[in-house]
Amino acid sequence: MKNLIKKIINNKEYKEILIFVFILYIFRINYIKRALFQTKSRLTLSQYGLLFLTMLGATVLMGTLLFIAIKACNMFYTRKNVPEVKGKEWSFGFGELKYFLVNKKNCKICGTEMKKITSEEPKGMKRDISMDGYVSDVEMYEVKISYYCPNCNKKYSLEELTSKTE
Ligand SMILES: [Zn+2]
Repeated sequence: MKNLIKKIINNKEYKEILIFVFILYIFRINYIKRALFQTKSRLTLSQYGLLFLTMLGATVLMGTLLFIAIKACNMFYTRKNVPEVKGKEWSFGFGELKYFLVNKKNCKICGTEMKKITSEEPKGMKRDISMDGYVSDVEMYEVKISYYCPNCNKKYSLEELTSKTE
C-alpha cells in the first residue's frame, strides 16, 4: 500500500492532473471564496490561508479521484480494444508445398497410406497495427504438418519427407 501511494505521488500524470485541477480552482477562486466565507469583501490573512488550504485539499482530493478514474478508463479501454487474435504462420519450402499438394502420402518404408497431422507451435505474441489504426495482439502459431504411418508407428515431418524424395 505504501509503495502504491509512493508510485502514485511520483507519477508524472498525477502531478499534471493536480496542476490542472488547481488551475481550475484558481479560475473559480471567487466562487470558492463566497461559498466559504459568504462575503464579497477583502479577506483577512488567516482567511486567505484557509482558502488556500481548502483549495489545496480539494485539489488533492479531486486530482486523486480524477487520476484513478483516468487510470481505470485506460485499463478498461486498452483491455476492451486490444483483442487477442490467433495468427497462423505457414512456412513451406517449394518442395514441401509440392509434396503437400501433389504427392501421394505413402510411407517410404512400408507403403501404407499415412495420416496427416497438423500441429501448431506457439511462437509468442505480436502486436499488430492495421492500416486503419486498429490494434490487436496476435498470438502467433507456426503450423506444422507431419504425416503418421500407423503401420510403422512413425511420424514424419514434411521436411523429412521432402528431403527423402529429392
Ligand atoms: Zn510405414
